[in-house]
Amino acid sequence: MNKTENLYQILESNEKFVAQELYQDYQTDKFPDKRMVILTCMDTRLVDLLERAMGITQGHAKIIKSAGAQVHHPFGSVMHSILIAIHMLEADEVLVVGHHDCGMQSVGKEIFVEKMLQRGISEKTIHMMEHAGIDLHVWLKNFDNVYDSVRDSVSVIVNHPFLAEAKIPVHGLVIDPSTGKLELVVNGYEYSDR
Ligand SMILES: [Zn+2]
Repeated sequence: MNKTENLYQILESNEKFVAQELYQDYQTDKFPDKRMVILTCMDTRLVDLLERAMGITQGHAKIIKSAGAQVHHPFGSVMHSILIAIHMLEADEVLVVGHHDCGMQSVGKEIFVEKMLQRGISEKTIHMMEHAGIDLHVWLKNFDNVYDSVRDSVSVIVNHPFLAEAKIPVHGLVIDPSTGKLELVVNGYEYSDR
């Protein structure tokens, strides 16, 4: 067992965390105190920065992370989580937070295929999936403009058949991953009942 490997380091940290009862600082329930759900990107720079820059902490919000803060499919897993947060877990507001310099801005089909080949995925498999109907250009859903991407995610959420009539405010924002500065792109209060 190599003690420097991430998994073993995590298990070791966890043992200490539990033994020292550090969890006592984190007692809350599954309902978001600020009744909101945030969809943001999985970018490493946003870990902790996003919450601190937005003035929120543990217990305040449901946080969903996907590459590029995108909603790929109206009945896919990201939308599923948003719908569960709203209808089952008392969230009644959504914030989509994209960011500048997002990795999804440079994920083209060619580079993605090249990286898969380097990892040992065979051309045969890639061709097979393309023949099966996976159009990588469409599936990757990379974007050039983060503002358009945020507006697109907001639009999918706000117009969702399981949400539209509930008139839930859905806001769009862009965060700077270096400074944490937020820009408001869509103010959901302007077209909701709130
Ligand atoms: Zn990103």
